[in-house]
Amino acid sequence: MAACAEDGCERPAAVRLHVPWDANREVCTAHARALVQQDGIVAEPLSGAGENWE
Ligand SMILES: [Zn+2]
Repeated sequence: MAACAEDGCERPAAVRLHVPWDANREVCTAHARALVQQDGIVAEPLSGAGENWE
């Protein structure tokens, strides 16, 4: 499984973020929860990661 795309974060990526003003990125659930607060970002759980995303 790919690692989180955020610098310095080594948790496994569990969510794909669709970022209108930047490239899509795959991040861990902790970073996804923080980033998805921003307007326009859509979070899409990666397959197999559903149990970690609530
Ligand atoms: Zn992360």
